This record gives sequence, C-alpha cells and structure tokens, in this order.
Amino acid sequence: MGKGEFELIGWIKEQFEVPEGILGIGDDCAVMPQRDGLETLVTTDMLVDGIHFLMEDIDPYSLGWKSAAVNLSDIAGMGGKLVGTFLSIALPKNIHDGFTEEFIRGYKDISDRFNCPLLGGDTTAAKDRLCINVTVLGSCGAGQSLKRSGARPGDLVCVTGTLGDSAAGLKLVLERQSDGCGSPEAPDTERILVDRHYRPMPRIAEGLRLAATTGVNACMDISDGIGSDLRHILEASGVTARVDVRSLPLSAELRDLCARRGWDPAELALSGGEDYELLFTCRPGTPVSIPHTVIGEILAAPEGSETAGPVIIWEGTDKDFTGFRHF
Ligand code: ADP
Ligand code: MG
Repeated sequence: MGKGEFELIGWIKEQFEVPEGILGIGDDCAVMPQRDGLETLVTTDMLVDGIHFLMEDIDPYSLGWKSAAVNLSDIAGMGGKLVGTFLSIALPKNIHDGFTEEFIRGYKDISDRFNCPLLGGDTTAAKDRLCINVTVLGSCGAGQSLKRSGARPGDLVCVTGTLGDSAAGLKLVLERQSDGCGSPEAPDTERILVDRHYRPMPRIAEGLRLAATTGVNACMDISDGIGSDLRHILEASGVTARVDVRSLPLSAELRDLCARRGWDPAELALSGGEDYELLFTCRPGTPVSIPHTVIGEILAAPEGSETAGPVIIWEGTDKDFTGFRHF
C-alpha cells in the first residue's frame, strides 16, 4: 500500500469535493448543518479481530460494550448529544453459541446508560475473522461543535481523567496470553486496568459541558494516545505546543503497576492510546466545570514550519513520543 494511515486518509480526502458548510474528513465526526439551527454529527469506526481486539481474550459482553463506547466517544470529542447508532457485524462460522447474545447485552448496557438507541445495521457471515462496524449519529447547536482546528497560541492544553490505564491493561492481557496465566486471580490493581481497557467510558457529559463553555477552543477524544492525537489538533490549528510530561494525570493503579514492573508510565500515557478521555484547549482563566488536568500550553508555530508538521516540546523527559499507528 506504501502509504501511512494518515497519509492514506489525506489522499482519500483529496479525491472528493465537499459542499460548502459541511465538515467532512479530518475531525472526530463529520458535521452537517440542518435547517432548524442544529447540526448533525456522524462518525464511524471499525473493530477487527486480531487488530483492535483479540477474540481469544476479550469476553463478548466487553466487546459489545467497547464497540459502542469507542464510537460514542467521537461524539463526545465534538461536544455533541447522542441520537442513535447503527451496528454492522460480519460473523465467522465458528463463532461460539451465545456469543451474539452476550455481545448485544454489552452493546445495549452502554447504549442504555447514554440513552442512545440502536437504529439499524447489517449482519453477514465472515470467512475468517469477526469484524464490527458502528456508526453513530449525534447533534449539537449550530456552530457549537468543538473542532480540532480551534486551538490558539496561549491556550492551555488539558485532559479529562487519567491516561495510560488502558494501555497498561492491554500490556497485562498480552503478557498473560504469552505466559498462559488466566485473569481471574489478578490483583485488584490489575483488574481495574484491564477493565479500563475492555470497558472504556465515553465522556459524553463532559464533552457537552465543554461545548457550552466559552473559551474552550478545540477538542478531540483520545484514541491513539496524546503523543499522536495532540498532533492532530496542532496540525488542524496551525500551531505547536509544549507539554510537561511530569504533569500527566496518572492513576494510583498505573503508578503502582509501573513501579512494580519497571514500566515507564509516561510512555503508556502518551503513546499507548485507547483512553477515550477528552483532550481540549482553552483560554487561560476559562471556567471549566469538569474535572481536568492542565498538561501544557499551545504555542505559535515557528515561521515557515507548516510542511514539517508540529514538533511538540516535551518537558521533563528526554524522549520523543508518538501514538499508536495502525500501519
Ligand atoms: P478517530 O480515531 O477520531 O475515529 P480516525 O483516525 O479513524 O479518527 O479518522 C480520522 C478522520 O479520517 C475522520 O474524519 C474519519 O472520518 C476519516 N477517515 C478515516 N478513514 C477513512 C476512509 N477510509 N474514508 C474516508 N474517511 C476516512
Ligand atoms: Mg476520535
């Protein structure tokens, strides 16, 4: 294929012309204005066995939960309200009895929690591996959605929740898979981290609050780790940033595990991904009413730097960080 993931998406984007007023490829959701002063948000993401999850490890309930969660999270990233979802599944012939029922139970539990009904989809057989695609519709007031392109020099860089828990959970799952040790005996710390990986919680209410707060300029959900995701905000906004790695919000469970294993928590927090927290920028002094941590500041891009891509200044570390990339 020859192209990286983001280069390929950029090339696909160039092949199509999008009508004035519609925001197409490049943000967490497409945004389409409606006549009644509202905007419709649409997002879609695919989960493939062996790439996004390991069929032999994840239980079907968690897979159903996670398939919905990672998609709902893109509506949170725009500060939107949820309207409904569409679910398409390609089921391999050897799928075990009861799989689909448990999968739908997990999908329904998170959908009910956010009052977001399933409205349609498609079901087909697959030759080899399970493949799941979810599309979510959302809405927001005209001009209210939070884009990646709004960051301005002087903005604070902020995140909700804690970072790196999901990546640590995945590391534990992979480790157990290689040494054949099952998870039921895992200590509480490890169970919490594995849970953060399997059952992420989209920050829908937080996104809505941010969209209603004047001074919040840019936002996205964190799916690949901020080492990669912050670059999307910087590129879309034509700015750069400094981030103090010492100020990253880390859970007690992550600190504890990393101390015991000799893992670098900053690396998991910045490059691991799948946190599904919100990354946003706001003017200093903005009355942000949701729990969050300030991790850095937006800076003006140096003259003539547009083609090289943003160089983030990582303070408190001698490493450079990028996020997860599919290829
Ligand atoms: P996210 O992690 O927020 O879901 P992605 O990295 O998957 O974002 O995608 C980034 C942007 O590229 C989104 O606007 C998405 O709709 C678009 N995109 C990704 N793959 C394709 C594709 N094959 N065709 C058209 N648009 C795509
Ligand atoms: Mg996203």
